[in-house]
Amino acid sequence: MTIGKAGAEKRPLPAGLHFVATPIGAARDITLRALDILASADVLAAEDTRTLRHLMEIHGIPLGDRPLVAYHEHNNDQALPRLLAAMEQGKSVAYASEAGTPLISDPGFQLGRAAIAAGLTVLSAPGPSAVLCALTVSGLPSDRFMFAGFAPATKSARQTFLKELAQVQATLILYESPKRINQLLEDLVQCLGEGRYAAVCRELTKRFEEVSRGTLGELAAAFAERDVKGEIVVLIDRAPEQVADAATVEQALDKAMGEMTMKDAATAVAEAYGLPRREVYQLALQRSGK
Ligand code: SAM
Repeated sequence: MTIGKAGAEKRPLPAGLHFVATPIGAARDITLRALDILASADVLAAEDTRTLRHLMEIHGIPLGDRPLVAYHEHNNDQALPRLLAAMEQGKSVAYASEAGTPLISDPGFQLGRAAIAAGLTVLSAPGPSAVLCALTVSGLPSDRFMFAGFAPATKSARQTFLKELAQVQATLILYESPKRINQLLEDLVQCLGEGRYAAVCRELTKRFEEVSRGTLGELAAAFAERDVKGEIVVLIDRAPEQVADAATVEQALDKAMGEMTMKDAATAVAEAYGLPRREVYQLALQRSGK
């Protein structure tokens, strides 16, 4: 493993697109490499130019006469060609979203795709993101997780969305606004049941940081009493494993083998019923007569 020494191995910034993660609260969470990139990119681009300018001021990085271009979901058609043209002329473009990692429930996807399609270099300076920060402190299993972004705002669409996630065998992670947190928790109880462990992480890395842990039922009751402010991530433990008798497993395996390869069928059924994959694969071999 090689780790670049701070400062000593600074390389000139290559032409192309540099996604830069920025703090989700504490300004000092910016990385040294992010600062280097912001200091040396030919062009700066940001979802909110005032936020980036402020961050650069805090860290003593002058903008100088470099362009600072707004790029967000509402001006994609104008700003994207301008940024691509700069990269095609051999310029380095640093892009930061409002907070955290670009593309994670934030703009940047179309810009990255367009740069890749144009054969340009696309690099990332990783750093803060609320999804990983929340997972780390949630106390929920981190071996497998599914980030599902924001749930839809309308009740019926939200319930359909949550029902689709109900059986996912991974810790579920959702972003939510403080205005809708109570409704989301109520719908989670309705669609996933009240017994699953969950965590509500609020204002991570900030002064009023708070993590509430409990069952969905307990959290829904606790938050129903509160007028909540700030930024929120909700995490929910995976669906309980289904306990099944031999006949049910065999039936599920036969069905799955009709739809996918034997190996995939064994994996899917093993995961669905919490069984060792080798055992289910052996059963699949027996049932296929091989
Ligand atoms: N790109 C960002 C990232 O990497 O986390 C996310 C941007 S998204 C528009 C904003 C949402 O992220 C908030 O509504 C909240 O759900 C979550 N979030 C951002 N900062 C947070 C924080 N400090 N504490 C809790 N949640 C946060």
